[in-house]
Amino acid sequence: MVEICALASGSNGNCYYIGNSTNAVLIDAGISCRQVLLRMAAKNLDPAKVKAIFVSHEHADHCSGIGILSKRLGIPAYMTSRTRGCIRSDQQATDIQEFAPGDTIIIGNFSIHSFLKKHDAAEPCSFRIEYEGTSVGVFTDIGLSCNRVRHHLSQCHALFLESNYDEEMLRTGSYPYYLKARISSDYGHLSNRQAMELLRQHHHPALQVVLLSHLSAENNRPEIAASAFDELRARFTIEVTDRYAASKVYTVKEG
Ligand SMILES: [Zn+2]
Ligand SMILES: [Zn+2]
Repeated sequence: MVEICALASGSNGNCYYIGNSTNAVLIDAGISCRQVLLRMAAKNLDPAKVKAIFVSHEHADHCSGIGILSKRLGIPAYMTSRTRGCIRSDQQATDIQEFAPGDTIIIGNFSIHSFLKKHDAAEPCSFRIEYEGTSVGVFTDIGLSCNRVRHHLSQCHALFLESNYDEEMLRTGSYPYYLKARISSDYGHLSNRQAMELLRQHHHPALQVVLLSHLSAENNRPEIAASAFDELRARFTIEVTDRYAASKVYTVKEG
C-alpha cells in the first residue's frame, strides 16, 4: 500500500508526498517548511517517516523550501550536480546527495527511478517511485512527452501529471509573446490536451488515480482541466490538485 498526496501543486509551489507504513519521500519543496509541515499535519501525514527530498530542477517553485525543510527534518536533499549548481545559496540544503539522471536511488524500501525530461532548466528530472511493484509517477514541468516520459508513465499505478494550460486560454491571454512561446515550447509545460493524449495512449492498464498537477493560475481553470480528461474518467480516478491546500490522501493498492 502506498499513500500519495499533493501538498502543493502549481506555478507558485510544488511538493508531493509518497509514503508507505514505514517510509516516505517528498518530491520538490517549493513552498515554505512551515507550510509543508502544516499541510502534512492537516492530512495526518507523519514527517518522521520522510527520509529524503528529491529536487526535480532549480526553478523556485520546486526548490525554495528545501534548505530549511531538509534541515528541520534532518534529511538529505537529492539532486543532480547541475541542478545543485543552479540553486540559490540561501535556499540550498546543507546535506546534499547527488545523483545522475537515469540513476535509481534506494530510500528505505522505496526505489526512486530518475530520468531526464525536456524543460528549460539545467538538468531537469522526473521521478517514478516504486514500492513492491507499485509505481507512482511525479511528472510535471515537461515540455514534450519524450520516450523516457512515456516509458515511465506506462508503468505507473498512480500519477501526478502536469496539466498546465488550456491552449486557447494561453493563446488569447495577457501573457507577452515570449512567455507564451516559452510555455508552449518543447521545453515548457504540457497543455491539458497534451497531457490527456499522453495519458490516453500510454497509461498502465492498472492505473488507479491521476492527480492533475501544476495548473497555471493564468492560463487554466480547474474545471477546464478536469473536463479535458472526461473521456478517461470511467477508467480511473481523476482529480485536480489545489495550489492553496493539500489534496486528499489517496491510497494506491498493489499493482
Ligand atoms: Zn514548475
Ligand atoms: Zn520549471
